[in-house]
Amino acid sequence: MDAEILAVGTELLMGQIANTNAQYISGRLQDIGINVFYHSVVGDNPERLRACLQIALNRSDSVIMTGGLGPTQDDLTKETVTDIVGRKLVLHEPSRQRITDIFQRTGWTMTDANLKQAYLPEGSMVINNDHGTAPGCIIEKDNKVLIMLPGPPSEMKPMFEQSVVPYLEGKSGYRIVSKYLNIVGIGESYLETQLMDLIDGQTNPTIATYAKEGEVTVRLTARLPKDDTTDLIAPLEAIIRERVGNAIYSTGFESIEEVVGRLLQDNNLSLAIAETVAGGTLASNLCMIPEIPKGRFHSMTVDHSGSIDQDSAINQAQTIREFFDTDLGVAVIGSIGEAENNGLEQTDTVYIALASRNKDNPAVIERHLFGDVNRKRHSAVLHVLDMIRNYILNMPETNKRHDI
Ligand code: ATP
Repeated sequence: MDAEILAVGTELLMGQIANTNAQYISGRLQDIGINVFYHSVVGDNPERLRACLQIALNRSDSVIMTGGLGPTQDDLTKETVTDIVGRKLVLHEPSRQRITDIFQRTGWTMTDANLKQAYLPEGSMVINNDHGTAPGCIIEKDNKVLIMLPGPPSEMKPMFEQSVVPYLEGKSGYRIVSKYLNIVGIGESYLETQLMDLIDGQTNPTIATYAKEGEVTVRLTARLPKDDTTDLIAPLEAIIRERVGNAIYSTGFESIEEVVGRLLQDNNLSLAIAETVAGGTLASNLCMIPEIPKGRFHSMTVDHSGSIDQDSAINQAQTIREFFDTDLGVAVIGSIGEAENNGLEQTDTVYIALASRNKDNPAVIERHLFGDVNRKRHSAVLHVLDMIRNYILNMPETNKRHDI
């Protein structure tokens, strides 16, 4: 089965909003093994909407539409669709009741226009909207599927997840399994060269890389007949792990902050951080994490006035560790400047040191940062977190638990 996405809204054409619905839906359709061959956008104009819809229905098995389900005059999606599929709009009593209840609860004044949202194409499957007033629906006709969803992403996404995904999965006859490998410390292009043969030769599972600032996520997606329980992902994951090894910091949706928090907690380690370059970013990222041991994490934003080199970083890591009497002390020193034109030409050097209560030789790394100040700060934070992560993973067993 293939699908295309048709977004309705003049605002989209005028550049007032980005078509994030199409981006979201496409990503999710890929996850469930449905190919997307077209995205289109059309304004709130019935003739052009009709023309677009006709083209879409001719070339795709299913068309997913978003937007234009509102109560106002220019919201014409349902009217145009019902006309094209030769159905009538009929009152859906449960939706009328829901809309009336919402207006009663909120004290808003309800008009006939609001009731328009409770009218849906005859014979369609209604998709309830728990976050707004416009229900969506699924229409099946002549082996084609037409799905209508409201425009606001906060309404569209839950409706898509709760109703459309199970519906389409049921149609596809396949089970789709995805696994996400989160990688830090390797750039996307370098990673791609490491995985080039796998990416070039991919069939099932497929491999996709997504770069975030300073991190890359590799998505492995396998598609299997519903009753087939073969694990197609594990062998491919094993090959990737062999190539990039320790750079994979988590699978799924665990962030690097959460990984560091978990490692600190599992190993009963306390941590003190002195940051001169991250401007408190490091502390604020870490203190949000529930796993960070309460009362066992301290941080200071320090104005470092001495020389900027490895020895100074080590000194500061040791000082902060001793000051708070923690198991680990981390210092990140350097000076970060705003680069002109966001350019690559101006890099800043930072030194990150880690001192431990049980280790004589502190660790220190030198890193070069580029981009604007926020990007540099973000990179510095990732380097620090990755250093702590690697340090704990490689710590001798005897050093891991410190009894206080
Ligand atoms: P409602 O009547 O519930 O507001 P609707 O289905 O009539 O929804 P629109 O009026 O087309 O939807 O859009 C409402 C809002 O939804 C827009 O102002 C915009 O914020 C958001 N929106 C619409 N389409 C998209 C899209 N394709 N991507 C992201 N946001 C969108």
